[in-house]
Amino acid sequence: MPASHTVIRETLLDHARKARRHAYAPYSGYSVGAAVWCEDGRIFTGANVENASYGLTVCAERVAVFRAVSEGARRIAAVAVVTHDGGTPCGACRQVLAEFGGEHTLIWCAAEENGDVEEYLLGDLLPRAFYLPERQAGEDELILGGM
Ligand SMILES: [Zn+2]
Repeated sequence: MPASHTVIRETLLDHARKARRHAYAPYSGYSVGAAVWCEDGRIFTGANVENASYGLTVCAERVAVFRAVSEGARRIAAVAVVTHDGGTPCGACRQVLAEFGGEHTLIWCAAEENGDVEEYLLGDLLPRAFYLPERQAGEDELILGGM
């Protein structure tokens, strides 16, 4: 990463803080903002979006990752999450982050109630993430050819 660790952290946290203002959390009252720093230098943000049918709720982290990937980004180097109490990404979001990050992906979690920021590595939050075995060249064509 060309920018310094501190600059990236503060920039990402600022983006996540702003994204949190757009959280739609009428059921839990737990507003979350997230921002991802992609290896291509772009930043994408997300806020949690709840639903009356609770299971359809999507976390801020996944909104940010899916926005990044749908805009062509593929590798995520760092993540900032802002909540009231410094909550860390849920298990589902950790697995989604593992798809586009790695064990050294930095995750900063900020607590708005007291300004604390904790730093984690994805590999510490999600040891032994699930990955499919590497595919053989041409395997995709064989699968699609059988449809
Ligand atoms: Zn989540």
